[in-house]
Amino acid sequence: MPLLTVRNLHIDIPTGDGDVHAVRDVSFSVEPEQLFGIAGESGSGKSVLSQAILGLMPGARISGEILFEGKNLLELTPRQMQKLRGDRIAMISQDPLSSLHPFYSVGRQITEAIRAHRRISERAALEEAIDILGRVGIHSPEKRVFDFPHQFSGGMRQRVMIAMAIVLRPALLIADEPTTALDVTVQAQILALLNQMRRELGTAIIMVTHDLELLSSIADHAMVMYAGNRMELGPGEAVLKAPAHPYTLGLLRSSPTQETRGPLPSIPGQPPSLLAEQVGCAFAARCQSAMEICGQKRPPLREFDDETRSLCWLETKAASVAPSVPAEPI
Ligand code: SF4
Ligand code: MG
Repeated sequence: MPLLTVRNLHIDIPTGDGDVHAVRDVSFSVEPEQLFGIAGESGSGKSVLSQAILGLMPGARISGEILFEGKNLLELTPRQMQKLRGDRIAMISQDPLSSLHPFYSVGRQITEAIRAHRRISERAALEEAIDILGRVGIHSPEKRVFDFPHQFSGGMRQRVMIAMAIVLRPALLIADEPTTALDVTVQAQILALLNQMRRELGTAIIMVTHDLELLSSIADHAMVMYAGNRMELGPGEAVLKAPAHPYTLGLLRSSPTQETRGPLPSIPGQPPSLLAEQVGCAFAARCQSAMEICGQKRPPLREFDDETRSLCWLETKAASVAPSVPAEPI
């Protein structure tokens, strides 16, 4: 049974200019221990979606279902949701400084996080804090537990934040751009650490990122979002190596890789306004494969043999029909 099932989720955010349709009919599920990647440019709805799973979109109008461990999270009270958050579902963000309090030692912050959900003594909680700091690779945790966030380097702070997020052994960890601010070496260490946690604790991870290159190396399953829509979904390898959707293909061609030389291709044009009702395909104005029907009718979700699904009128995979990337300049 999946750990998390999101069904026909719509999220509208009321603003002075009207409703922002941030998420439009998104469905997917996440299995225990899976690394589920959600990719998209900013404004695609990926962060709104993950905030909604955490119950952190209080002003929004949300319809559909978010089933977690058999419960529909949308039916829980704020208090029940708060109990779940941190305990069964935890989050790490791009910026540890926004999650760590500058004036308290990391040990105090971790022990308070534990004691908010478990009835244990301060001393026992401190021991757990030391143990978890050691597990995430902080040396001499019995000393460092008394240090303040500013006494850690950027990468070490990220580890502290991960320690705080996983100390209660959540079933689901939502990581929103967790390594964006880090250099490549530290990034690799943090990803290795998250993988280790997945194996040791069975935690499923939803990783939200704009970095497709990163996802292609780590995601079991990947979903690509655009203007609130789930454009493509499937096994990470299939989606990222042979994309079915023209938008995924465009993103892949415009994302930098280590081998890339010369100017990067980018997708011309802008995403549509999220305030507008959507007629037809959200990507139609920018799509090189657009046909007449694309601007008129919402595309079907097409399924391919390799289990990728694509919200598109094309009957074959974009990767197999679109012109190939121009050869590298000599
Ligand atoms: Fe392009 Fe049409 Fe597919 Fe949209 S539905 S991605 S416009 S081919
Ligand atoms: Mg974001």
